[in-house]
Amino acid sequence: MSDPETRQLFTDYVVPTYGRYNAVLERGEGVRVWDEQGKSYLDFGAGIAVSTLGHAHPAIVNALKNQGATLIHTSNLYYTRPQGELAKRLVEIVGTPGKVFFSNSGAEANEALFKLVRKFGSEEKPKSSAAPARFETLTFNQSFHGRTMAGISATGQEKVKTGFSPLLPGFRHLPLNDLAAVEAAVSEQTAAILVEAIQGEGGIRVTTAEFLRGLRRICDRHNLLLMFDEIQCGLGRAGNWCGWRTIAPDVTPDAVSWAKGIAGGFPLGATWFRAKPVSRQDGTETLLCDLLQPGSHGTTFGGTPLACTVSLAVLDTIRDQGLIEKAVTLGQFIQEQLRSIAGIQSVRGAGLIIGFELDSRFEGFSNGKQLPSQVVVNRLLDSGLLTAPAGPLVIRLLPPLIVERAEVDAALTIIRQTLQRLLNP
Ligand SMILES: *Cc1c(COP(=O)(O)O)cnc(C)c1O
Repeated sequence: MSDPETRQLFTDYVVPTYGRYNAVLERGEGVRVWDEQGKSYLDFGAGIAVSTLGHAHPAIVNALKNQGATLIHTSNLYYTRPQGELAKRLVEIVGTPGKVFFSNSGAEANEALFKLVRKFGSEEKPKSSAAPARFETLTFNQSFHGRTMAGISATGQEKVKTGFSPLLPGFRHLPLNDLAAVEAAVSEQTAAILVEAIQGEGGIRVTTAEFLRGLRRICDRHNLLLMFDEIQCGLGRAGNWCGWRTIAPDVTPDAVSWAKGIAGGFPLGATWFRAKPVSRQDGTETLLCDLLQPGSHGTTFGGTPLACTVSLAVLDTIRDQGLIEKAVTLGQFIQEQLRSIAGIQSVRGAGLIIGFELDSRFEGFSNGKQLPSQVVVNRLLDSGLLTAPAGPLVIRLLPPLIVERAEVDAALTIIRQTLQRLLNP
């Protein structure tokens, strides 16, 4: 099968929900992938922050082989050891007592958050007997929370909502890093706040420590749930097991969602709920992490022995090889180097979730169909570097956490030369 034939299959048979880049990828090893023509690329997109250990990592391959030959799936009608072990590991990562629900993607991990908010509102004892059940979640402009109906309702970007009304009620979007706006927005319907400590799709926009601490204070004052969407920035990528801790180490959330890098490319989502007391209407007490009882939520595939074994192998490898510490130092180096490249106006991020913003000279590079960032991403791809756009002028670097200094140097050279050629044709 040749490259054009593969693309023809997509034209004929695949729903065109993605504007795909012009590469048919066939195999990978480490930080490199190869297309059907045999051309190789440095993968600094990592399948959108997913392939944390790069491609064909022996830890993942062995986990897939061994667990695949042992037990792949049972449904959640039974107990399985890997799911229990992974839940324990994730609770340890948050460092606060709680419990974990497993699903298969980021959208589903967030869906569990949205359903928890509704359940919380319906079961908690209201402030006064006249008070209605609370149901609203505050989110932020430019946020991204997934493509289900609840996910797009929660997302603070118009483009994901167009054509899908009516959306789900109960979401409002506020400006990021603006505590006064949040303070003013809390109403008697508000039950939760959902935030990405580092917005990924929205352009690598980083929250401030004052903001995250202020959100915690507001949540405490009004008894709201503080929920972190760690799907893109969590589990080591930002230079900490918990993305928000690179910004505000002292803040404890009430719920967290993960997916993307959690199992290095094997589909898995997870949602942590805090063991926090909730007073019920009937006077009894329960815990937030016990609100979702049998029959209230579930998914057939969530937390299979195979997915959980692969995830444990990924998390073990990140820990044992010191990849988080490496992400911090390499990330700082990449940010410094990017700042010295002509054509780059600003650099943002933490660890190995980095965005660089093209300067105003690139605004004219939009060719009608493509944003300037997409034009540049295409040129980087032609030069052998995979990256991902995040907004009209921002390009994301999300390399595997196993990336080495030599690969970073090679990627930076491609970026420097590509921008130089674009600005001086
Ligand atoms: C990717 C992403 C999602 C959605 O995850 P899917 O696995 O694509 O459903 C949600 N939130 C954030 C922050 C993401 O980056």
